Amino acid sequence: MNVNKEIKKGEFENLKKKHEEEIEQLQNKCKHDKKKWMLEWWAIGHSTGYDVLVCLNCNKNIKHRPGKIELFAKKKKVVK
Ligand SMILES: [Zn+2]
Repeated sequence: MNVNKEIKKGEFENLKKKHEEEIEQLQNKCKHDKKKWMLEWWAIGHSTGYDVLVCLNCNKNIKHRPGKIELFAKKKKVVK
C-alpha cells in the first residue's frame, strides 16, 4: 500500500506553517509569567555556552545571555 499517494504536494509545508502560526499566536497572547533560565543545548550533552530564558507556559525563548548556569562545573571539559 502506497500511503504517500494520499499526501498532496506541499501538504507538509502547509501544515508546518499553520502549526508555527498557531504557536506564534499562542506565544503572542501569553503573559510569560512563569519563566526559567535554562542551559541551551545544540545537541544532547553539548551546551551552546548560553543560557536561555524560557516561558514555561508557551515555551517561547524570551532572552538569551552568555552562560552563567554551570552544570557539572568541576568536571567540565572544553570540547572542540
Ligand atoms: Zn509565555
